[in-house]
Amino acid sequence: MQQTRVDQGLPYYERFVAAFPKIEDLANANEDEVLKLWEGLGYYSRARNLHFTAKVVANELDGTFPDTHIGLLELKGVGPYTAAAIGSICFGLPVAAVDGNVYRVMSRYFGITESIDETATKKQITDLANEVLAKQYAGNHNEAVMELGATVCSPANPTCGECPLQIRCKAFTENIQSELPVRSKKTKVRNRYFYYTVRVCNGEILISKRGAGDIWQGLYEFPLIEVDSRLEELEIIKLLNLSSTEVVFNVSSEFKHILSHQRIYAKFILIKSGSFEDSKFMKVKVKKMSDFAFPRLINRYLETQNLVIVEEV
Ligand code: SF4
Repeated sequence: MQQTRVDQGLPYYERFVAAFPKIEDLANANEDEVLKLWEGLGYYSRARNLHFTAKVVANELDGTFPDTHIGLLELKGVGPYTAAAIGSICFGLPVAAVDGNVYRVMSRYFGITESIDETATKKQITDLANEVLAKQYAGNHNEAVMELGATVCSPANPTCGECPLQIRCKAFTENIQSELPVRSKKTKVRNRYFYYTVRVCNGEILISKRGAGDIWQGLYEFPLIEVDSRLEELEIIKLLNLSSTEVVFNVSSEFKHILSHQRIYAKFILIKSGSFEDSKFMKVKVKKMSDFAFPRLINRYLETQNLVIVEEV
């Protein structure tokens, strides 16, 4: 559920467990199938890590999920927070789960004025969270603090009047709730400019699978030209190197897609092609596109554009 609201994630969760009711079902699935079920939810490394971990649990751990903190931490995609959350909620392990909400609650409750972006402060807060943990009810305690952070001790305008921690809360006592937690690092946002060429020929289009080392690994996309700055329509068309059998049908308006550290500005150039000879991309029928998982950005475009229309005029 990283960076995901429960109401947004729940239908995905339900479809996921219906498709893979047992860990062996997930372990035996292929990656395209897993990503298709995750399509549109973002943070796709979660799906790939779940898939990888299912294979480890099914094949190397005899289908038994680890029930120790160290065993949990060895699973791919499971960091200290997730290990503590699973360990305490599922197995009653006495470990505090410290996510962004808990950093906020703890820094206010204990009046910590050092930046929570510093490793030393994170450690201090994690130690304090473990000290105050009701060890015999660790799962409930962790869920309660996370929930308090999500609903009462919110980033802006915490509703201290409804908070059960109010009497001992340092930030409330000193009226410095709005100043805590202190953050020192500003997230750097990178702007990226994507120009997708959507070539259509005899009811087929060209797509490719995105590789490792960037966003959307394992998802599909149209042939992409990425540049560092926004281009004018004529500049884009020049870059395309159109063959004599190709005609630009239209250029979409700009789609903006925001990720946690990136802003993507994308345009789609719809092209009527005479042939796809010698193409290094996959040819697929437009009607079969729904078998493939695309990033939400591309699906937003597909919701606005009928691709086969180029062949009907
Ligand atoms: Fe947060 Fe206010 Fe509760 Fe303190 S009293 S923990 S600032 S909601």
